[in-house]
Amino acid sequence: MSNILERVNNLLKLPQHLCNMCGNCCRMATFKGGLSYEEVLELANSKEAEESQVIGARDFLAIFEPYESTEDAKKIGPEFVESVYETFGKDSKVSFFHCKFLGQIGDKYGCLIHEDRPQLCRMYPIPHERTFYFPGCGFEKQGRKNWEEIKNILQSLEEKRANLQNKVKEEETKE
Ligand code: SF4
Ligand code: SF4
Repeated sequence: MSNILERVNNLLKLPQHLCNMCGNCCRMATFKGGLSYEEVLELANSKEAEESQVIGARDFLAIFEPYESTEDAKKIGPEFVESVYETFGKDSKVSFFHCKFLGQIGDKYGCLIHEDRPQLCRMYPIPHERTFYFPGCGFEKQGRKNWEEIKNILQSLEEKRANLQNKVKEEETKE
């Protein structure tokens, strides 16, 4: 079992050299669950919500700020906006964000705090069926491949769990 967990853990971490530093994911983001800016703000200041959610919202707002309007966001990442509305519905109040720390470094454009970038940037993108890959993202091929393997592992674990449960039921019926 520990080998399986280790394998899944490794599959979730994509090799950083695959990033081609296009910066598209820094220009366009949403908070999980399709929340609006006001809702993320409320979560970050909440005294009732789970601590991990509050920390997640605070970390997110420490680097991301909202676009003035969805139209502005569409100009930067139309595919991303479309994909988000496909997930949450056209009437969703979801807000679109861009990072405050993307800027000019000499003659290049990049992350102004690269060495100190937060954990959420270091972990991005996590292979999952709902992960959105920006056109040309260097992680896409490997990310999709890894997710297929993770899915197969999860499916086989679920089958083992179901078999075990059936055996326990059979034993209980015999008694
Ligand atoms: S902190 Fe750096 S890596 Fe993270 S989103 Fe901003 S620009 Fe991108
Ligand atoms: S979109 Fe992909 S390749 Fe481009 S900076 Fe983000 S993670 Fe790297």
